[in-house]
Amino acid sequence: MIERLRNGDLRALARAISIVENGASGAMKLLAECKWSAGKAMKIGITGPPGAGKSTLIDQMARWLHRRGEKVGIIAVDPSSPYTGGALLGDRIRMQELTADSGVYIRSMASRGAVGGITPAVQDVCDVIAASGREWILIETVGVGQDEVKIASLADLTVVVLVPGLGDDIQSLKAGLMEIADLFVVNKSDCDGAARVVAEILAVQELSGAKRGPIVPVLETVATTGTGIADLMGEIVRQRQHAPKHSPHISCAKDLKLDHLGIAVKSIADSRKLYEVLGLAVLHEETIEHEQVHTAMLPVGESRLELLQPLKEDSVIGRFLQKRGEGLHHIAIKVTDIDRMFATLRGKGVRLVSDKVRVGAGGHKYFFVHPSSAGGVLIEIVGEKE
Ligand code: ZN
Repeated sequence: MIERLRNGDLRALARAISIVENGASGAMKLLAECKWSAGKAMKIGITGPPGAGKSTLIDQMARWLHRRGEKVGIIAVDPSSPYTGGALLGDRIRMQELTADSGVYIRSMASRGAVGGITPAVQDVCDVIAASGREWILIETVGVGQDEVKIASLADLTVVVLVPGLGDDIQSLKAGLMEIADLFVVNKSDCDGAARVVAEILAVQELSGAKRGPIVPVLETVATTGTGIADLMGEIVRQRQHAPKHSPHISCAKDLKLDHLGIAVKSIADSRKLYEVLGLAVLHEETIEHEQVHTAMLPVGESRLELLQPLKEDSVIGRFLQKRGEGLHHIAIKVTDIDRMFATLRGKGVRLVSDKVRVGAGGHKYFFVHPSSAGGVLIEIVGEKE
């Protein structure tokens, strides 16, 4: 399936997304393959209040890209279930015509009820779409909730769409949406009040200009006729050329660090001598009563070795020594958001040893991933201090 997916097969793509979204068996492996082959897709978040004409705008953007021979995927995140979002569904049906004659791939996702949360789910779907060889991914969200703001911010470039006639709304939008915009679009710019919206966006930016840096461009469009689309896309292409080169499998790994390697030993006193020959030194020793283990930490660069000596034979490490002998017991990876990692892994059906995130030595949060879900190695996920 990976092979067909990479060759751009639409059915393989749809099936792969379903597997990843539902956390079906094989999802982890599939996703890992996708992350590896996904390389150069530009993710554009398009957000703004309901009624701003985002779907029509995205339709025009996709057509513009398609005419230039670019391969496009669209993710539409609906704020409600796909069964109740009537107006949005209508837009989707119209957009499906685009799919049929151009190979533009469109996928709807409901923001409620996604396993592990909607933001990681959208990230995963992006990786799958990118693996299918699409250079552009347009992500439509309705910019009302925190989730939508977060999704927009996982994009490489975020377009905030506003329209005349919002009245006070533009003031209330400022807080969340104004900060994430790389580009503002005032759509329906042939309507009364468009010039005032443009002026307001510029004024808001000027007020906060000191901390924001350069002014974010404001472009005007009439999506229904296609007016202004060429200018908008010209600006997006220009920003893409100036954006830092994007590499998904590196960026998703940047929050991860190898924290330590846990090594089961019969005697810390004996084995530390071997490591001291290598130039390592014990920085910290600690007894963890509830695990029935004595530990010694030896820093290696930014990581550490953690020697584990059982306090009694009938303990986790004691039984490990009887069964396997001395050696590598676990690998510990540090993450920035351990609670989210726990929810994501559980949502994807990864077998965990721990039933919840626990607080261990030094107040660090941790949990364990079962070796059967990790290529035969016990993995400890470590978070920040409580
Ligand atoms: Zn450990």
